[in-house]
Amino acid sequence: MNKLAIEGGTPARSKPLPPNYPGAVVMGQEEADFASKVILGQSPFRYYSPNPQRAAEQLEDAMSAEMNVPYVLGVTSGTASLIVAMKALGIGYGDKVIVPANTFLATPGAVVCCNAVPVFCDIDDSLNLDPAALEQVYDEDVKAIIVVPILGNPVDMDPVMEFARRKNIAVIEDIAQSCGVKYKGRYGGTIGTIGAFSFQMNKIITAGEGGAVATHDLKLFERALRYHDQGLARHKARYGIDSPDEEFAFVGQNYRMSDITGAVVFEQWKKLPDIVASMRRSHEAIRSELASRFPEMQFRRCPDPDGGHIGSNLGIILPSKEATVKFNQAMAAENMGTYILYAGLPAYRTPAIFHQRTSDKDNFPFNYPFKNPVVYTEDMCPVAIDLIPRTAFLPIAPTLTEQDVEEIIEGTSKVYQALRDQQLVRQ
Ligand SMILES: *Cc1c(COP(=O)(O)O)cnc(C)c1O
Repeated sequence: MNKLAIEGGTPARSKPLPPNYPGAVVMGQEEADFASKVILGQSPFRYYSPNPQRAAEQLEDAMSAEMNVPYVLGVTSGTASLIVAMKALGIGYGDKVIVPANTFLATPGAVVCCNAVPVFCDIDDSLNLDPAALEQVYDEDVKAIIVVPILGNPVDMDPVMEFARRKNIAVIEDIAQSCGVKYKGRYGGTIGTIGAFSFQMNKIITAGEGGAVATHDLKLFERALRYHDQGLARHKARYGIDSPDEEFAFVGQNYRMSDITGAVVFEQWKKLPDIVASMRRSHEAIRSELASRFPEMQFRRCPDPDGGHIGSNLGIILPSKEATVKFNQAMAAENMGTYILYAGLPAYRTPAIFHQRTSDKDNFPFNYPFKNPVVYTEDMCPVAIDLIPRTAFLPIAPTLTEQDVEEIIEGTSKVYQALRDQQLVRQ
């Protein structure tokens, strides 16, 4: 094999991979047309205008029909969707919420925003929450579990749901990174008590910003609807809601989706099946060829027996941090940058979370006098500490060509073989 690019050889690719923005890289005329219609119709607000285009509503209906979940509500962001979900569940001061150690800081951040305290659960070789570790972190103050399918890989939902049923607590699915992911044939975000979606730029489909919640439970949905819109429940008839405000209204916020966002995400939603099919095809071609060339190569495990991941990232677990650093540097030089998540650290190591610091007086809500105080220690989730810094992720864009896939296989093989030669991976 030829010389590594990092040592002066010719890079396996002449230019970098497409950016890791699956939805944005296929954005085009369709999104522009519908957004234009909303703008030229002078109707950017979803609930009233001179000439309503019902874009957010169309998005919700399309998501609901495809995912087989009756209630979907567009909101302003993924963070908003988590907050709305927890507020709908009535989670607040004095409650704990279990979150996985490997997630973006928005997940524990949303818990704190709801005045609850996040409790971190360790992960397994799927890089997602390990259902077998739930019991260890559970106590009677825990009111919900947030699961997060990281970078397109489904969570092992059956044992999570079984645990939650046994403890009578809710399950929130934070689908931000994995729109379209499936577990045993069902869409992620429709299996737990409530699903939370993001349409931010890095996510699978996007309008730059945006989010949604989904649930099968009308009572929960009504609370979400009210919380996201100042306690109001507009368009009650659309959902078959008949509760009088006098009895049911409570103080909410504004997390309403704009109809311009609705229009863009609606067109992106229609493209989702093709985006996922393309990413899965490239992912499988790369993974199976690498596995046959390097039988010892360890990939992130997909917990779904039907392989319901969306293919957006191939996770390669290397034997050491040192090997992973070298791998990522060499891959970048080959013009196929791979990366580790979150600077290699569990979410609880983010300074604000680790030091339990908020903008409020006395670091409310961390100051709640729990019977079992929530204490974060550096080493509390040993599997996360071990696996996060030695999992290299290769982003797989929906626009990869067969030639791209070929180059990725050749470049990755070249780099991996060099690690073998340096005895950084065992054969
Ligand atoms: C991006 C992300 C969020 C937050 O979504 P925003 O739309 O940026 O607010 C929440 N959870 C996870 C796991 C994410 O990756």
